[in-house]
Amino acid sequence: MEVLNARSILVTGSNRGIGLELIRQLAEGRNQPEWIFATCRDPDGPRAQELRNLAAKHQGVKIIQLDTTDLSSVKAAAATVTEELKGTGLNLLVNNAGILMLNTQETQKTMSETYETNVIGPMIVIQEFLPLLKKASQESPHKGMSCSKAAIVNMSSIGGSITRVNIPKAVSYLCSKAALNMLTKCQSLEFVKDEILCIAVHPGWVETDMGKSVGQPQLTVEFSVKEILNTLAHLSEKDSGTFVDWEGKIVPW
Ligand code: NDP
Repeated sequence: MEVLNARSILVTGSNRGIGLELIRQLAEGRNQPEWIFATCRDPDGPRAQELRNLAAKHQGVKIIQLDTTDLSSVKAAAATVTEELKGTGLNLLVNNAGILMLNTQETQKTMSETYETNVIGPMIVIQEFLPLLKKASQESPHKGMSCSKAAIVNMSSIGGSITRVNIPKAVSYLCSKAALNMLTKCQSLEFVKDEILCIAVHPGWVETDMGKSVGQPQLTVEFSVKEILNTLAHLSEKDSGTFVDWEGKIVPW
């Protein structure tokens, strides 16, 4: 059975929800990466207490400040990670941070703020970490693509599927995830020459603050993340530029 074998992984929005559970399972799993960069916007604040407790137990977990809407913060995080990696590349970048605004009426502000976090955020994070992803790909002895070699995972949502959408609720969120899907596809085409795998993943309806804000979720965060990590371990170049769910099943665009 294939296992995720990345030496270095970075996750955005890792102080709670799916991001925090990703860090927990990576740190406590069988194949611990050497470097687990757990990024969040307020590492010293009360919302990062659980993450700080986790990092205190696992040497490989490094907490780094990164607000995906602030270019200077993203650049500073990339510089810190470059220094930590001591000349080696970054194997896996998980663009997990996201927001959902539940409004009765969308406005210019709700639309632009959601787009800024859910689409522009992943775009600038990828731009700033691209040299490290390319380095990881170049230094790998393996041909082809995998999440153990060099990959970008964009945490999307089935809400971004134009085929599947049936309730016009949280329109700014749905539009932002459809745009994130397009960004993922474009990146997969751009980075094919660098052998960097790019994929959009729907985590399921998960019991997190966000998931619970819209009803009773179907999946525990532990289960969703376990399945996502299993799915990531099995991806190859044929999957780059696709949209899959937590179990690896294709989601229609
Ligand atoms: P949560 O609301 O529980 O957590 C969101 C995380 O994103 C928090 O850590 C939050 O940090 C962080 N974040 C928000 N804005 C920024 C920013 N500007 N910079 C850095 N971090 C930021 O959400 P989930 O864990 O449920 O969701 C994770 C991802 O999965 C999201 O992209 C979401 O859209 C997607 N998803 C979730 C589903 C679900 O059912 N839960 C379903 C489909 C998709 P802070 O504490 O500072 O606010």
